[in-house]
Amino acid sequence: MLDALRSRLFCQGFRTGKFPPAAPSLPDGFRGRPILSGGACPATCARCMETCPTGAIVMTEGKRPSLDTGKCLFCGKCAQICPEKAVSFSATEYRLGGFTREELIAVPEESYLPAIQKDEAIRKIAGRSLKIRQISAGGCAACELDFNVLNTLAWDMGRFGIQAVASPRHADAVLITGPVTHNMQLALQKCYDAMPHPCWVIACGSCAVSGGLYADAPTTARLPEGMHVDLFVPGCPPHPATLLEALLRFMGRTPEAQA
Ligand code: SF4
Repeated sequence: MLDALRSRLFCQGFRTGKFPPAAPSLPDGFRGRPILSGGACPATCARCMETCPTGAIVMTEGKRPSLDTGKCLFCGKCAQICPEKAVSFSATEYRLGGFTREELIAVPEESYLPAIQKDEAIRKIAGRSLKIRQISAGGCAACELDFNVLNTLAWDMGRFGIQAVASPRHADAVLITGPVTHNMQLALQKCYDAMPHPCWVIACGSCAVSGGLYADAPTTARLPEGMHVDLFVPGCPPHPATLLEALLRFMGRTPEAQA
């Protein structure tokens, strides 16, 4: 025991990051919230739309681009190919989660402010403890791995009362990764039915939010009847800081929600 304490005090130290409340340490080349130019694009140019593998970019009235982060893979190809530099990605704005699909649409000249959890029932039930059953519904393991990262000592989501649980009967929320294949649809339905209600659905990653690259694949089934998503977390996969911030925002634990 003394050896363990000595090792902890003098060798290992405290390894959990300071985020939050400190800003997260993001890698070089991180692509966060899209930044779209307010100016009109040339009438004949549609290179970003043609390049985008998921159809995330559309031109709004006046030939101004809007970008659906729920479909975006954050590959950066649109930013690279645009001759007008009308599309770029923030290197610091990691907050991407939203309670509705509309919140995920980035438009030119927006002053982005993440939504605040106003649902008193969610704040009361899940504000201090959120037990999550994760279902990989056709995922590639990227989102699954980055959710798993939140369980490591570097991120330690348990300090906020967030815990991954093995049984849906212990879960407040199901966190779905992957586009929901036909093969996984029934398993997802059974998981949801086994959860004590009220319970919530979290779509983690572009595939779960919109189908992503597999939206039109014949194997993609989407959500079972009766399930609707309460928290959308864009990314391919979402950075752990993006996912943790979105979960805390859902719980009403961000500083703005508690002000
Ligand atoms: S970064 Fe997103 S919007 Fe741009 S091309 Fe890639 S998937 Fe499409």
